[in-house]
Amino acid sequence: MVAYCYVEGCKTTKYKNKIENNKALPMYGFPSNVMLREKWINAVLSNQINAENPPKYSRICIKHFADDQLEQFGFMGVRLKKNAVPTLFPNVK
Ligand SMILES: [Zn+2]
Repeated sequence: MVAYCYVEGCKTTKYKNKIENNKALPMYGFPSNVMLREKWINAVLSNQINAENPPKYSRICIKHFADDQLEQFGFMGVRLKKNAVPTLFPNVK
């Protein structure tokens, strides 16, 4: 199964675009924390034309998170900060 980024207009899939500019493009599932999950959904839906609640297993790629929402993890890795919310939706017109 190919995992697509849920953000409308975003072309990231888990496999095809895994590496871009020598950087991996991790994808993150919606948080299980209800409050935070709500923030993600609001952020995404206000930037979608087809606003629908995302399916349970939707994922969002790292491109939609500003640098200050990320933290270094190990040598190469990057992970979301605890309360990170997606804010970048460059593909949406
Ligand atoms: Zn994306």
